[in-house]
Amino acid sequence: MLSVVPSPVVVRAPSKVNLHLGVGDLRADGYHDLTTVFQALSLSDDLRLAPAASLTVRVTGEGAAQVPTDRTNLVWQAAVALAHLAGRAPLVEIAIAKGIPVAGGMAGGSADAAAALVGLNELWDLGLGRDELASVAAELGSDVPFALHGGTALGTGRGEQLLPVLSRNTFHWVLALAKDGLSTPSVFRELDRLREEGDPPRLGHPQKLLQALAAGDPHALAPLLGNDLQAAALSLKPELRRTLRAGVGAGALAGLVSGSGPTCAFLCETEEAAIAVAAELAGAGVCRSVRTASGPVPGARVLDHEPQA
Ligand code: ATP
Repeated sequence: MLSVVPSPVVVRAPSKVNLHLGVGDLRADGYHDLTTVFQALSLSDDLRLAPAASLTVRVTGEGAAQVPTDRTNLVWQAAVALAHLAGRAPLVEIAIAKGIPVAGGMAGGSADAAAALVGLNELWDLGLGRDELASVAAELGSDVPFALHGGTALGTGRGEQLLPVLSRNTFHWVLALAKDGLSTPSVFRELDRLREEGDPPRLGHPQKLLQALAAGDPHALAPLLGNDLQAAALSLKPELRRTLRAGVGAGALAGLVSGSGPTCAFLCETEEAAIAVAAELAGAGVCRSVRTASGPVPGARVLDHEPQA
């Protein structure tokens, strides 16, 4: 019988911004309890997965030189985990075209891992449902389930327990990418240090923010955006204060550090306003580069099948 080699699968993986990131105290297991509202953004990575004689990872695009191509890459771990579940060998070549800044607080590695799960489910014809993929995702990292889920969601626990959030309208963002990355564990450690020294303000419950999202009103949403990690990211990278001021000075409704940073995210009134803010920020010399994005967008999803060579 002829065996048919499956066609490569292309998957798009969205980035995320935390509209609200409330960080609890350090737990005995080394993690922090989080209350967060994620929004998936159109700034994304594309993965191409093709059958191969062994597991290989290639990376091109934004920050590719900083991304490992060995077993420490989250897509490698995703492939091994899913192959184990399916009782097969992880024989796949994964090519990642990065658009999401590396170590930028936008969960690029997690997005790639979610995309690998979705793509391999298709390539290997496993027929796994979203819930089954989500439990593999949660083992790979706290932000991986949201990258699968997409849209807008409330995350608790380490951020992996998700509830969908009603969000009307599309929101428009400008993202200021920094020169170097920030490691997420070092930002959490800095927050713990700041809390030992003093009592930096903590966010309350995001009830009002959830109402602003349901109303789809960027003016109501803007003053409610907040991130408990921002003080720590600014402490490690004080130059981000200038970036945040410049974005608001250029006409954004509000700006905040995205996740653990150092990317700064600016909420704008309209798409046109975002383009104008991006142009002014790009000329202000306060960041490495600037992108516009919109959200919410869906979670990791198959784009198309490429024809066989
Ligand atoms: P998060 O917001 O989820 O904490 P981040 O967006 O700040 O993460 P990532 O871009 O996910 O950061 O990368 C963090 C580190 O993970 C990188 O420095 C890199 O060494 C490693 N890494 C592993 N796999 C990947 C991947 N597929 N893409 C990017 N980085 C990866």
